[in-house]
This record gives sequence, C-alpha cells and structure tokens, in this order.
Amino acid sequence: MSDCLFCRILREEVPADVVHETERTVAFRDIGPQAPTHVLVIPREHHADVAALSAADPALVAEVMAAAVAVARQEGLSGGYRLLTNTGSDAGQTVQHAHVHVLGGRPLGPLG
Ligand code: 5GP
Ligand code: ZN
Repeated sequence: MSDCLFCRILREEVPADVVHETERTVAFRDIGPQAPTHVLVIPREHHADVAALSAADPALVAEVMAAAVAVARQEGLSGGYRLLTNTGSDAGQTVQHAHVHVLGGRPLGPLG
C-alpha cells in the first residue's frame, strides 16, 4: 500500500472532486487549475510515472488515455483540449503517481 498523495486520494484519505471513474482509472479536478477545465486521470494501481506504467501494463496506459478522452467529452471541450503527462524532474513532475492532465476550456497556446 503506497502512501503517495494520489493513492491517499484513491483511499479517500484526502478529499478530491472526482468527475469520472472506470474499473481501473479515476479522474478528479486538479487543486491548482491551469485552465477552466483541469482534470487529472490516474490508474488505480500505483506506478511512479507513465514510463513505469507503460513497462508494467501497456493496456492500462490505453485505458487512462481513453478515460482522459471521455473526461474531455464529458466536460464539453468541443473546441479541443490538451492531454499532458509530466515524467521526471526535467518535466517538473511533482506527484510520483502516473497521471494525465486534461486541460481545456480556453485557447491553450503553444507548449512551453
Ligand atoms: P505534475 O506536476 O506531477 O505533472 O502534476 C501534479 C498535479 O497535482 C499538479 O497540477 C497539482 O496542482 C496537483 N495536485 C497536487 N496536490 C493535489 C491535491 O491534493 N489534490 C488535487 N486534486 N490535485 C493536487
Ligand atoms: Zn500512488
């Protein structure tokens, strides 16, 4: 059992605004939104980042991405959206539990 922040959210030890769930994924609103819609999609299983997740269970990567697309549709992001996953320190990953950001609701501009 991991004591990482997102595992604690999964165990409901830390509150979160959950917007979408599947058997193997959960999506909840980011606490510091960078766009009108900013949702994080995570696997229920703990993996430190998407590289570890991909190595352990590539089918689960697909399920996380499919859940992210479902969240975008549910949030009404008909103008488009960005799916983003930070991996490692150069990318600024701050929570070591694999997650995909779903960002949208305004023109997002170029990356970087
Ligand atoms: P990263 O920087 O690792 O790609 O993304 C981590 C994200 O988790 C950040 O956007 C940050 O705002 C979000 N975050 C950090 N702590 C919490 C929390 O306690 N609850 C929620 N809902 N989001 C969090
Ligand atoms: Zn975790």
